[in-house]
Amino acid sequence: MFDNLTDKLDKAFHILKGHGKITDVNVADTLKEVRRALLDADVNFKIAKDFTTRVKEKAIGENVLTTLQPGQLMVKIVKDELTELMGGDAEGVNLSGNPSVILMSGLQGSGKTTFSGKLANFLKTKKNKKPLLVACDIYRPAAINQLHVVGEQIGVEVYSEPENKNPVEIAQNAIKHAKSNGFNVVIVDTAGRLAVDEEMMNEIANVHKAIQPQETLFVVDSMTGQDAVNTAKAFNDRLNFDGVILTKLDGDTRGGAAISIKSVVNKPIKFIGTGEKMEAIDVFYPSRMADRILGMGDVVSLVERAQEQYDEEEARKLQKKIAKNEFGFDDFLSQIQQIKKMGNMKDLVGMIPGAGKALKDVEIEDDAFKHVEAIIYSMTPEERSKPTIIDSKRKIRIAKGSGTKVEQVNQLMKQFDQMGKMMKMMQGGAGKNLMRAMGG
Ligand code: GDP
Repeated sequence: MFDNLTDKLDKAFHILKGHGKITDVNVADTLKEVRRALLDADVNFKIAKDFTTRVKEKAIGENVLTTLQPGQLMVKIVKDELTELMGGDAEGVNLSGNPSVILMSGLQGSGKTTFSGKLANFLKTKKNKKPLLVACDIYRPAAINQLHVVGEQIGVEVYSEPENKNPVEIAQNAIKHAKSNGFNVVIVDTAGRLAVDEEMMNEIANVHKAIQPQETLFVVDSMTGQDAVNTAKAFNDRLNFDGVILTKLDGDTRGGAAISIKSVVNKPIKFIGTGEKMEAIDVFYPSRMADRILGMGDVVSLVERAQEQYDEEEARKLQKKIAKNEFGFDDFLSQIQQIKKMGNMKDLVGMIPGAGKALKDVEIEDDAFKHVEAIIYSMTPEERSKPTIIDSKRKIRIAKGSGTKVEQVNQLMKQFDQMGKMMKMMQGGAGKNLMRAMGG
């Protein structure tokens, strides 16, 4: 996410960090580079200019030139300004209605349908809501089907009327259906077009007027940069929406839309989409995003994701198994699956401060555990629970079955062995055992 921008800002600050004595000229050079980095990220010229002007004023106000670490102070000022530019505090969606109606708007291909599913899944699993998804795209039967597929995947009911060509009616009927069937959130997915056109705007404005949603969200593909900002403006002029959803941030190396959209439409970014899977949704926190843009990682989000996956019951069971030497490959597999639920590897690594930059050129597969899983799936249940019986003959069979090499099987066995030893040490009087293991 935002790799290019992070890189360029890092280089800009390098100017300040590298000099023994800081002068007006160094600061001006740094700001020029910051502005260039923002322009390259597809941030609008005026926004970039105003941004650097504000940073400059603050830098003068805080006497950057006389502080011990001017580089760090500049990074802090830029971070605060970036946070402010992206919206200040995080804002949630309004769920005060009964049912709460959420209207989704945006161009075709922006990720509207996918996000409708993600939001329904988020509200169901994290906020204990009972959402109903509504298919209001009357032009593309495929869009209705797509929403049904999504609904099935996350176990959320989808309301549609394939024969009805009146989206206002469909939405109104869906809300009636929700009221009489105990749904407390209604998410209405509407038709999009490839570009802004009057007919689409009229249609969604009519739906908006008829159902009076608590929340109108505008979905936009962040990779489209300034186009995203212009489209947001067109929709906002017509719908006066409540918040923006930025999708496909996982593929956005520049970040221009994330940085400029708030100041153009004066509406907060509420959620971001970071992948195609239903779990790839995050609340948008301007300050955490600023940290990530400046290459400082995002430990808070990383810990939160780990906590979400932490299951106390499972952890206790695992502890018992380790104590009894019964930790097997099935347990190993379920650990991997838990890590995978936290998100794709590239994204996770990016949240570790400094790691994103350090591993910038290292190819990290989205599915880094593919081979490990294949190897374990090729083992018999007995082998998985008693790995000690895996001899060289079995290893050859496992390698063949999983399409890997015997060395890869050996490597996994070794890692598994080391992990077992380490867990055992952490369990019993950790310090004592650790000393013994180290020969102390
Ligand atoms: P709609 O026409 O606005 O309803 O868009 P869709 O929901 O059909 O999404 C269009 C394409 O973008 C699909 O292939 C989605 O899988 C993909 N997509 C949606 N959100 C994301 C995201 O956050 N990240 C990535 N990488 N792909 C996404």
